[in-house]
Amino acid sequence: KSITTDMKTLTEEIEKFAEDKKVEIDTLKIREEYRKEFLGNIAHELKTPLFTVQGYILTLLDGAMSDKKVREKYLERANKGVERLIYIVKDLDLITKLEVGDLNLDKEEFDILEVIQSVFDLLEMKASKKRISLTFDMEYSEPVMVYADQEKVQQVITNLLVNSIKYGNEKGTTEVSVENLIANKVIVRVTDNGEGIPKQHIPRLFERFYRVDKSGSRKEGGSGLGLAIVKHIVEAHGERIYVESEEEVGSEFSFTLEKMENKKS
Ligand code: ADP
Repeated sequence: KSITTDMKTLTEEIEKFAEDKKVEIDTLKIREEYRKEFLGNIAHELKTPLFTVQGYILTLLDGAMSDKKVREKYLERANKGVERLIYIVKDLDLITKLEVGDLNLDKEEFDILEVIQSVFDLLEMKASKKRISLTFDMEYSEPVMVYADQEKVQQVITNLLVNSIKYGNEKGTTEVSVENLIANKVIVRVTDNGEGIPKQHIPRLFERFYRVDKSGSRKEGGSGLGLAIVKHIVEAHGERIYVESEEEVGSEFSFTLEKMENKKS
């Protein structure tokens, strides 16, 4: 066989191979883009608190160390910055696990009202700083047993409540309610009368690192991952998350959960 024929066959073979693998290559390309964007975002998120911490340390090294009061103040602020970094890294770790589907759900039976109460207790201080009242619209006087991963559901409620406080108005209200939806489902609603979300942002709200007001939200010090984590956890349970919001009026985030009664029958 001549070299030309060999080359032709080879080219044909490569083309066929490429054709077969096209879908795979496209997927790889998308994945690569996704990875690059993710890494870029991480670098961006970590940069601000790192520079802040470095700023305090440099000021201390520059002479602020000799004054006890000043020293304490700067160390405290540096520590706050480190705390924020830890918080971001923890969220990154969680979102990575959720995105690669590497997170096992540990489903059990528990009272959702008790979990909501425990989140209220945890966030009471944070809310009172903005004089926001956390209220519970009790339709039930009895426990509401659901079947889900308790720790993850607690994380969902925490993230939603933290947001309602962060984006809530001074002296505002956040209300949580649990209602029967259909036979085997309940719906948990977190409603605030805060700044609300402009319509055009709603479709992208659950994307990681997505923020409505970049500068404003940055001041609030989130990781931009809160809602992405919420969506992943809810969907990993096979449940759904909804959002309704109006600018200057407020927002309502709600998600469904499986009721226990049904499980037993
Ligand atoms: P972040 O760390 O920025 O709070 P999230 O993923 O939790 O990240 O939220 C994404 C964005 O959605 C926020 O930056 C904010 O603009 C908007 N948002 C979330 N919850 C609320 C809310 N209850 N009211 C108004 N805006 C909200």
